Amino acid sequence: MIRPTVARVDLSAIRENFHAIAQFLRTSGRSGSDPTRPNSAEWGQTPPSENSTSGVRPQVIAVVKANAYGHGAPQVGLALEQAGAAMLACADIEEGIVLRQAGVRAPILIFGALSVSDLEGIFQHDLTPTISTPGAARALQAAAARHNVTLRCHLKIDTGMNRLGFRHDNLEYTLPDVAASRNLSIDAVYTHFATADDPENELFAEQRTRFETVVQELPKFGITATVRHAANSAAMLRDERVWFDYVRPGLLLYGVVPPPLAATLSLRPAMSLHSRIVAVKGVRPGEGSGYGIKTTFSEPRTIAVIPAGYADGLDLRLAGRAFMLVRGRRAPIVGSVCMDMTMIDVTGTPVAPGDEVVIVGEQGDESIGVREMAAAIGTIPYELLCRVGSRIQRVYH
Ligand SMILES: *Cc1c(COP(=O)(O)O)cnc(C)c1O
Repeated sequence: MIRPTVARVDLSAIRENFHAIAQFLRTSGRSGSDPTRPNSAEWGQTPPSENSTSGVRPQVIAVVKANAYGHGAPQVGLALEQAGAAMLACADIEEGIVLRQAGVRAPILIFGALSVSDLEGIFQHDLTPTISTPGAARALQAAAARHNVTLRCHLKIDTGMNRLGFRHDNLEYTLPDVAASRNLSIDAVYTHFATADDPENELFAEQRTRFETVVQELPKFGITATVRHAANSAAMLRDERVWFDYVRPGLLLYGVVPPPLAATLSLRPAMSLHSRIVAVKGVRPGEGSGYGIKTTFSEPRTIAVIPAGYADGLDLRLAGRAFMLVRGRRAPIVGSVCMDMTMIDVTGTPVAPGDEVVIVGEQGDESIGVREMAAAIGTIPYELLCRVGSRIQRVYH
């Protein structure tokens, strides 16, 4: 049994997007322009190499948090590992365990703040935590000592986002304790940009400068990690100076360019959303459709009912603002998005129950992307992808 509304996930698109990103990192301008780059970026084994001009290209930490942006973490994680991702990253320990249980063997970085009580999963499943607070460092040190192991970690510096991480401007108070933690090995240091998708905002350059300063000062605080990473998708597209040793794209891997940036590499959306018409009916002038009868039609209309609603992740605001594709044409979403159903206006298009409807994706010469859909309702494509509901089966190709 399979419901009529499905999300098709094209794993080869994800692999190709990964390769397009890797190619972009290889062929774009930089060639050994950064003299502080290490020769080899093996975790924890990177010697500081002041004079290296090797021009080694950054590798990719593939971001698969939030169930791989709704695409399905087990399948996507394995596909990206196979494509050559140096590391995968997810939000919390639970997501890391899902990846390990799927058979992922690549290193897995946990971005999120750690609960101070339950850290066992890190040790049982060989996950790489982020240290983003002094408390997390103490809890991890204690747990690693109990396990009698040296735990590999990444250190997060807050350079201006004011979310997670050690503030860049008082490290002399916070880092010595971390450096003295005998059971913690700081393999890498990273930061995250607050305004990478806003070319007008000056904080981006400010954060880069602060991060560079911190990296130079780390040895002073007893931390010798030289592996650095900072760039999400938008930052990676915008500025080669923030590529450092690893880049951390998420959205780009799924074939979507973060708005408002333009595509500078060729990507293919990995997910499309499909359904089928379950009912067709005529509506008379003066009548409306759906909860609230928010708008009434002045002409006779033909309405088709689609078995997907807000319980599946479709947003209420889509009604009156967005479209679905049927018979290669755009049909406006009308009435109201209901829990399990949505209505579209198919007046003038010969349709019948069973006809395929595309909610996101291509049909004939038409296409609807998540960027377009997000813009129509004032949100971002990230939110729409993550919200594709658990009731919608993912079908992998
Ligand atoms: C989500 C996330 C990313 C990836 O962001 P995209 O915009 O999807 O490329 C990178 N780094 C961190 C810390 C994140 O939380």
